[in-house]
Amino acid sequence: MFREDVRVSGDDVLIRPRNNWALFLDLDGTLIDIAARPDRVVVPAELPGLLEACRLAFGGALAIVSGRTIADLDRLLSPLRLPVAGEHGGTLRLASDETGWAPKVPHVPSRWREAMHAFAAEHPGVVVEDKDLGAAVHYRLAPRHAPFLLELLTGLVAQLPDDFKILQAKMAYEIQPRAINKGHAVRTFLAVPPFTGRTPVFIGDDVTDEEGFHAARAVGGLGLSVDGCFDGSTAAVRAWLGDLLKGKAVVRSSAWRNSTSE
Ligand SMILES: [Mg+2]
Repeated sequence: MFREDVRVSGDDVLIRPRNNWALFLDLDGTLIDIAARPDRVVVPAELPGLLEACRLAFGGALAIVSGRTIADLDRLLSPLRLPVAGEHGGTLRLASDETGWAPKVPHVPSRWREAMHAFAAEHPGVVVEDKDLGAAVHYRLAPRHAPFLLELLTGLVAQLPDDFKILQAKMAYEIQPRAINKGHAVRTFLAVPPFTGRTPVFIGDDVTDEEGFHAARAVGGLGLSVDGCFDGSTAAVRAWLGDLLKGKAVVRSSAWRNSTSE
């Protein structure tokens, strides 16, 4: 099914898929288009079937690594119940887990969450996405409010700077426990079956995915950015996964090497 790499020119190589890959996939902006609000996304009808086929092709080693909650991911990808990392790794459901669980990290104080909601109520177009550990605040519909939102969140995090940081995602800010990122999620999955011993391939579109890229590359895997490797197109990522199943997918090494500042 899977073939060997081909040298194109100089150091540039067409990397072909391996049977021993493990896939780590972001969702929004990677597998599905970003919408004006996170609750307005449209999941392509073929996506659950495509993901399940990929999961089976790689021995069960496929996980979604997203900023969304696990419940949200299950709802969007229904009827699938995949191994998932929610909230950028703040919640996990490994292949053997019945339910999701959270690593021991501090939760965002409820008074901070209330402050975010109060800000949204006073600034039309600002949308709060409540999560299990905290909340993200999206300003895609009202970017003029972003500086004031950042000021609010900076003031909150300054109360507990050792525990929390501000995550700057695409048109959204989120307060996150410092100990959490997508790289930790990848390493946690790789420590247990069916991911153990496999080569991680992480695909994502946002700055929040860069820790995932680093974690994958640190153990000889690939970190593929949607902009750098797929021209920013979620349809191109889905088509590539389809090609992966046919053994036809390739990654040009110059593309993934140049796709981030690493
Ligand atoms: Mg994304």
